Amino acid sequence: MPLPRYLAALLFVATGLLGAGAAVAAGAHEHGVARLDIAVDAARVSILLETPLENLLGFEHAPRTDAEREKVAAALTRLRASQVLFRIDSAAGCQPSRVDLQSAALGLGTATNSREGHGDLDATFDFKCSQGGRAGFVEVGLFETFPGLQRIELQVATPKGQMRATLRRPTSRVMLAR
Ligand SMILES: [Zn+2]
Repeated sequence: MPLPRYLAALLFVATGLLGAGAAVAAGAHEHGVARLDIAVDAARVSILLETPLENLLGFEHAPRTDAEREKVAAALTRLRASQVLFRIDSAAGCQPSRVDLQSAALGLGTATNSREGHGDLDATFDFKCSQGGRAGFVEVGLFETFPGLQRIELQVATPKGQMRATLRRPTSRVMLAR
């Protein structure tokens, strides 16, 4: 059950003060943590990323200085390079297709839902595949690309089944059921 927003914000202040990476409710905005959903079928792999902007930028508001604008531009360039962020088992014959980025705080896409004092980014990465079912793994490059990210809560769905897992720095390989 999601926490009321004001309560989640209070918890962030509390965990921040303690300097602890204590887990808040699943799905909540927690600095250092991202959610990744990977869906595999014969013709495509679709990956959804939900992350606090803090993990990508070190701040969570629209850029105010040239330095912040440069950070945003660099992060967006890295996010759009989906074939670098997600290296799918070559047996699946996947090619990068659409990348969609949504962030109310950065004025990206149509997202309007913004948290008080916090900002998120939701990204969709689509790959077209010749034999998606043969994908045995995905190498996730998020930890090497974004040093602020510590943990990824994973959800994977393939034609063979579903699983949940946690990926912790520096582990980068997600095994897929096949
Ligand atoms: Zn935040």
